[in-house]
Amino acid sequence: MAIAPVMTAPLRLRLDGDALVHNWRWLKAAGGSAACGAAVKANGYGLGAVDVTTRLLDAGCRDFFVATWAEAVEVAPLLPEDASLSVFHGVRAADMEAALASRARPVLNTAEQVARWKPTGRACDVMIDTGMNRLGLAPGADLSGLNIHTLMSHLASADQDVVQNGRQLELFRNAAATITAQRYSLANSAGICLGADYHFGLTRPGLALYGGTPRQEAAGQIRPVVAVEAEVLQRRRIEAGESVGYNATFVAHQPMELAILNIGYADGYLRAFSGKGTAGEGRFSIIGRVSMDLIALDVSSAPEVGEGDWIAIDYDLPSAAAVSGLSQYELLTLLGRRFERIWR
Ligand SMILES: *Cc1c(COP(=O)(O)O)cnc(C)c1O
Repeated sequence: MAIAPVMTAPLRLRLDGDALVHNWRWLKAAGGSAACGAAVKANGYGLGAVDVTTRLLDAGCRDFFVATWAEAVEVAPLLPEDASLSVFHGVRAADMEAALASRARPVLNTAEQVARWKPTGRACDVMIDTGMNRLGLAPGADLSGLNIHTLMSHLASADQDVVQNGRQLELFRNAAATITAQRYSLANSAGICLGADYHFGLTRPGLALYGGTPRQEAAGQIRPVVAVEAEVLQRRRIEAGESVGYNATFVAHQPMELAILNIGYADGYLRAFSGKGTAGEGRFSIIGRVSMDLIALDVSSAPEVGEGDWIAIDYDLPSAAAVSGLSQYELLTLLGRRFERIWR
């Protein structure tokens, strides 16, 4: 019988479980007496929902948030009895069977969802819209007869110092004063940094767990969790006047040495980094366009770099966001399926 060959991926994410736990603990401490949950939607912001949830459970996190019931199916089996899981997008008619079979609670967002869930008599969460105008019920909506576990709202601009934050806080306080629930929750990562008024009983960080810096207050406190590494597939020399990559957007003015790496926009390393991204802690510049599966680096200064070597792509989230024009959230959730994910 033929034995399948062992395949090793030519690109990998190095994921730092200690940094993840450190970030959760920092956010928990910053949130004062509030419980600190974890948004693990979008496959744990691209890192892997199962791996992230397992580590945060070990650290003591007991409140998890996903976007959809498909995501809940992945996370729910990991949770002990005393942990809780909420599904932000609520419950569509098509979700009812999965929802009733799950221990997760829907976060009800519309009158239709309220009507759908009320007859079950089961616990739910409720999202109140306080001005984001995304998902959620109006503060005065009829919630009678619901068994509300967590009442929440979501901040639209907590990463900025704007009057909208105070307005949303005021509206949420008023709602919390009139709607009975076991717990109240307003703050995402950035909201935690806004101070004690915003913490209520439970916070819901996502970005900062995974190494994003939501506001200056968190700079220097949050540790990077993700490192991106790709293997050199070829080293080549080009002469003055030669061009590199699609559409020849780069033309060499002098002889150069290039390393061609196994990573590209299909892996989530988007064309926004063309001619701008760097690797090796700033030592190597990306030359020309990012291709689907490849990039070229200028390694003229590094004669030791050769085929089969691994090079770290510079992916510090705040700086990579500044360089590319992508958000820190996008930089995380873009990271594709072709990476081998290696935790330590
Ligand atoms: C994604 C999300 C969060 C987490 O937000 P971060 O900015 O990543 O900390 C919290 N609450 C809701 C409703 C969300 O959709």
